[in-house]
Amino acid sequence: IKKVGVLTSGGDSPGMNAAIRSVVRTCAYHNIECIGIYRGYQGMIEGDFKEMGPRSVNNIVNKGGTILKSARSLEFKTPEGRKKAHENLLKAGIDALVVIGGDGSFTGGLLFNSEYNFPVIGIPGTIDNDIFGTSHTLGYDTALNTVVESIDKIRDTASSHNRLFFVEVMGRDAGHIALNAGIGAGAEEILIPEEDLGLDRLLESLQKSKASGKSSSIVVIAEGDKIGKNVFELKDYVEANLPEYDVRVSVLGHMQRGGSPSCFDRVLASRLGVKAVESLLEGKSNYMVGLQNDKVTLTPLEQAIKGKSEIDRELLRVSEIMST
Ligand code: ADP
Repeated sequence: IKKVGVLTSGGDSPGMNAAIRSVVRTCAYHNIECIGIYRGYQGMIEGDFKEMGPRSVNNIVNKGGTILKSARSLEFKTPEGRKKAHENLLKAGIDALVVIGGDGSFTGGLLFNSEYNFPVIGIPGTIDNDIFGTSHTLGYDTALNTVVESIDKIRDTASSHNRLFFVEVMGRDAGHIALNAGIGAGAEEILIPEEDLGLDRLLESLQKSKASGKSSSIVVIAEGDKIGKNVFELKDYVEANLPEYDVRVSVLGHMQRGGSPSCFDRVLASRLGVKAVESLLEGKSNYMVGLQNDKVTLTPLEQAIKGKSEIDRELLRVSEIMST
């Protein structure tokens, strides 16, 4: 391996810049070249490349987003698109790829490898933490902190007005953010895609909480919860059934994807970037680097894509006990 290409693809997350920095500097450390590929696979197809040295990643360890930009590329899903991308890589002398992204980006990378036998290593970057083979994805810890900070602020106004707040957080398929931030922020109830609490139990729990003397409450709801009503319908339903509650909705939205990465995410990004480049240098391909039991590990990309990252069920019990 003489020249590594690095790209960020799919949904962005805090810590991607720290990972780019790590990949670029690990290449420099081992005296190999590094090329930044802009706008993910789309930039690969268009040949949007830039040589990167250790000084081109100054002052980005603390920045959210990605300096290489991210994109969703429909063209890369076609054999013609991937062919163009391959030609561009060859022209530029790039002989290995580090893909920072989620499931979709890994699927594209694996397919590209199977067609062109091109070495690929993935770094998991998504705030949802929904990737098998790593206890933490880049950006997840930062997102948790952002959500907890936001809910703390909502709690101030909730308790001043004796209100019930439904706070919707990101997580279409996974409840990691909702569950962990919910416990961290002291939520009354947490609704996640992995577990259907049921409307009756929600009402019962809210009733109980009122009777126990709580004057305000926070319910954290993941986007993909299975209760069968969106957050606004849920507000109407609860107000219709429990008129004693004054309900408000707050949808946190894209702010969860932004911000300066936490120390945890910066350290994780640095470790994963080193492992990604050094794995390529050892001749490895089709792996995702990740964190397991606080050790940096390799998981075959295929498993990372197919496997499901399970929530920690013990946390459900902890949450229930905490809302007593
Ligand atoms: P994420 O990586 O965050 O899951 P996406 O699912 O949007 O994000 O995937 C990012 C990009 O990866 C897509 O825009 C596309 O270019 C590429 N990709 C995703 N799935 C495939 C696929 N089945 N074949 C080829 N490329 C894919």
